[in-house]
Amino acid sequence: MSLEQHLKETILDVPDFPIAGIVFKDITPILHDAETLARVIEALAARYEGERISRIVGIESRGFIFGTALALAMKKGVVLVRKPGKLPRATRSVSYALEYGTDTLEIHADALEAGERVLIIDDLLATGGTAAAACELVEGLGAEIAGVAFVVELSFLGGRAKLEGRPIHSLVTF
Ligand code: AMP
Repeated sequence: MSLEQHLKETILDVPDFPIAGIVFKDITPILHDAETLARVIEALAARYEGERISRIVGIESRGFIFGTALALAMKKGVVLVRKPGKLPRATRSVSYALEYGTDTLEIHADALEAGERVLIIDDLLATGGTAAAACELVEGLGAEIAGVAFVVELSFLGGRAKLEGRPIHSLVTF
């Protein structure tokens, strides 16, 4: 079975979570199964093999899981983009609109060097606000974006448009 088809069968829909009207895509069954998790990381690593990428930037919190696994597979370091108040040293922050509510993301001000090329990763692209904020943080430190990767893309929410031409890759689209 193709990875995309397998992921469609593995990811679970949870209606009305965390609030009424949202169908939450639960990716935890991917993590529960060693072979599925390995296939996801191998597919992402294969997609970016040969590209000039210095580090992986993971978005809190499921982006940390996939980002760190991918970083190990690609032998790269990981940079954290976190919810406010979690990073202990000087930060840069960006506020953005979520599918449900608003939020802020932060990065350590010295986490990236100007001119380095990074891959940003999160579990899921919905409206694109989260990933767009992460892109702003990365570019604000002078780094370039080699790609923005997701396991899942909810294409009907149009998040790609918010990422304005930055190269996007997702393993499964709903
Ligand atoms: P957005 O900023 O709208 O693209 O939202 C993306 C972030 O919110 C990701 O970190 C996702 O983990 C989470 N998220 C948003 N909508 C959903 C959904 N329907 N199912 C699961 N996670 C979601």
